[in-house]
Amino acid sequence: MERLLFEMSKEGKSAYSIPPLDVDDIEVEKVIPKNILRSKKIGLPSLSEVDISRHYTRLSRMNYGVDVGIYPLGSCTMKYNPKLGEDISRMGGFTSLHPFLPERAVQGALAVMYELGEALKKITGMDAITLQPAAGAHGELTGMLIIRAYHNSKGRRPTRVLIPDSAHGTNPASATIAGFKTEQTPSDERGRIDIKALEKQLDEDVAGMMVTNPNTLGLFENDMPEVARLLHNVDALLYYDGANLNAIMGKTNPGLMGCDIVHLNLHKTFATPHGGGGPGSGPVCVTERLREFLPVPIVERDGDGFRFDYDLKNTIGKVGSFFGNFGVFLKALAYILSMGDEGIKRVSEDAVLNANYLRKRLTGVYDIPYNYVCMHEFVASGRNLEKYGVRTVDVAKRLIDYGMHPPTVYFPLIVDEALMIEPTETEGLDSLEAFADALIKIAEEAKENPDILHNAPINAPVGRLDETKAAKELDVVYTEDVGGD
Ligand SMILES: *Cc1c(COP(=O)(O)O)cnc(C)c1O
Repeated sequence: MERLLFEMSKEGKSAYSIPPLDVDDIEVEKVIPKNILRSKKIGLPSLSEVDISRHYTRLSRMNYGVDVGIYPLGSCTMKYNPKLGEDISRMGGFTSLHPFLPERAVQGALAVMYELGEALKKITGMDAITLQPAAGAHGELTGMLIIRAYHNSKGRRPTRVLIPDSAHGTNPASATIAGFKTEQTPSDERGRIDIKALEKQLDEDVAGMMVTNPNTLGLFENDMPEVARLLHNVDALLYYDGANLNAIMGKTNPGLMGCDIVHLNLHKTFATPHGGGGPGSGPVCVTERLREFLPVPIVERDGDGFRFDYDLKNTIGKVGSFFGNFGVFLKALAYILSMGDEGIKRVSEDAVLNANYLRKRLTGVYDIPYNYVCMHEFVASGRNLEKYGVRTVDVAKRLIDYGMHPPTVYFPLIVDEALMIEPTETEGLDSLEAFADALIKIAEEAKENPDILHNAPINAPVGRLDETKAAKELDVVYTEDVGGD
């Protein structure tokens, strides 16, 4: 058990050594007014440098990340992030730039943004792009504001946005924050958008539809051109949630499907670290007729160089400070250029192959309610283990004992006891086999020794945690004599 730094503290220890003062010490009370001086001790722990270094190194060795093993968290695309991207994003010429520098002094940085934008436009089949949004959900909000601005520019105020029941959870949240009412479009028995139901929902009050494709069942929405046609009939816009574009890149694109707006997650598809590893980036691409609504500035060519264009007729304004998460742009561009056209296509092929391989190996061991050829992920269900008193959460916790990160659980909501599995293209055959073997073994344990599963994890630094306690009783301060006011 690792103790807190506060518990290891010993009066008198310190992690610095500096020479004695060769000038007179000042009396703090004489230069700082008493009413703003701290009255109690600050309460920071006293430790040596070795203590601190060992504490954090021990903690880091309990950590699990994609550099340690498979991380098959459905919908999150926890793929391996090439170390080349880290090198490129740390180049001094980029890290020491200040966002207030004049455009002529940052031509290289503008070139990076321009080239990345061109590559993403090609991959999505769209005409214009903003790199400003800092995450996928932020891209969705940007897209929803563009949809609102589009209708307002035509003097209309439609109130509804349609969202399939297999959409990602951020979609309804983003549409709501943008001021729309959301309405669910049901899936049919194939796990795809029910076109008949959609037809009945459409009228002049529909501003647009947000479609996650592949949807959260890991299935490809193959009626997209028809969905686009139906929406455009009432001048509603089609928004494509492309957070998981690693299933289709180089094979098809949202432009070909008739979409108007699409966001990408650079921190998923384009191999930039996320979660604890780094910030996100959620660029938004649009068709030519929506270019005038993009946030400003966008990067344009200017003779042999580049410039920021602030002059968009109906811009929704800015959606973030400065120009977006630039370090992420560098990593994503390095990734795209090192993969090339063929490599990008291979990413999708391998992501889909890996997911289908696992789906086949687990068929018959776990329920797979929509057991069709899937894209980059699929959804299994632990409901066939309920007869042994075992639930999906027990399966997930037991995987930790086998040294693997569990998949996403209890999402999407339309599958009971869901296990949403996304291996990504960066796992090799050995690692896929080991993961499938572990899940199969766990299903056997459920039958023979369910108590092992109920108590899991037993080999981890901590056992089964109360998953809601931390959220309900937020107590982040170590209370013993921390002092301060
Ligand atoms: C991850 C994800 C999002 C949200 O992206 P964030 O960067 O976490 O905000 C949206 N849609 C889909 C389909 C996703 O997988």
